[in-house]
Amino acid sequence: MSQLYIKKLTPPSDVAGHKPGLLPDSLLSKVDGGKLHWLCANAWKALKAQAKADGIELKPTSAGDLYRTYDSQLRVFLERYQKEPKEGASTRTFQGVKWYKKSEKLASLAAPGTSQHNSGLAVDVHTASGERLKWMIANCDDYGFSWEVVPEEPWHIRYTKGDDVPEAVKAWMAANPSEVCAPGQQSAPAPQSSPQATPEPQPAPIVATAPVAVQANGPVMRGKANAASNPVLRLGSEGSAVKTLQQLLVKAGVQCLTDGKFGPKTEQAVKNFQSKVGIEQTGVVNNKTWMKINP
Ligand SMILES: [Zn+2]
Repeated sequence: MSQLYIKKLTPPSDVAGHKPGLLPDSLLSKVDGGKLHWLCANAWKALKAQAKADGIELKPTSAGDLYRTYDSQLRVFLERYQKEPKEGASTRTFQGVKWYKKSEKLASLAAPGTSQHNSGLAVDVHTASGERLKWMIANCDDYGFSWEVVPEEPWHIRYTKGDDVPEAVKAWMAANPSEVCAPGQQSAPAPQSSPQATPEPQPAPIVATAPVAVQANGPVMRGKANAASNPVLRLGSEGSAVKTLQQLLVKAGVQCLTDGKFGPKTEQAVKNFQSKVGIEQTGVVNNKTWMKINP
């Protein structure tokens, strides 16, 4: 098989001045349940379309493996790396000090702010092996993508071409004007550019009925969502408030266990819900998310 390759990355000019992981929404386009820098989003859509035409399905490993906010990168980093020295462990430098990977079974992760995921320019491709990887090696370069860490991370590709849109991407854009992403647009297609385009789903109302007391004496759902009655829930939270949240997610049509434990699956369900109602996919249930889930 031919080899994975690394091409020099030129960042898009409009990311200059923005901290990695803190890109404004105006530069991010919704794609595959997550977000990418709009230039990368077009290249990724074009690459996927060509793959599909060739009988290969390309999708990200998860919505979180597209653009990652600084906070989400930090959270995962702290799960996998520790400051306490560990013999033989692989290391990363973060905040000026060396961090040690807690277990070699864990996948490596770039320090927060240093990953191309934080610039919306990287995609982790689901099952990048076999025929799919062979296809990627043959085609990624035409669409401005290449690998970043070889050969350890065949799934991780990043968009290298900056403002210089590759010919193959231009051809896709010309053929699919209603799907083209643009800055400030949030998600393609733009309603005015294509009369047959489906309008973007409206965020409300997800829960049409009055708030329900799912748990008679639970700490939440005593009435309308407000900061006082609704605790911030995140990965690791437990208890009746989590269970209530999970039940409301199910009610809103998002697949979720209702076990009262806020694990990675619940976090993904929250992100899916946040994506559905058009708010930032933090995976953290703060007041803004409560207001959407229990308006
Ligand atoms: Zn990656």
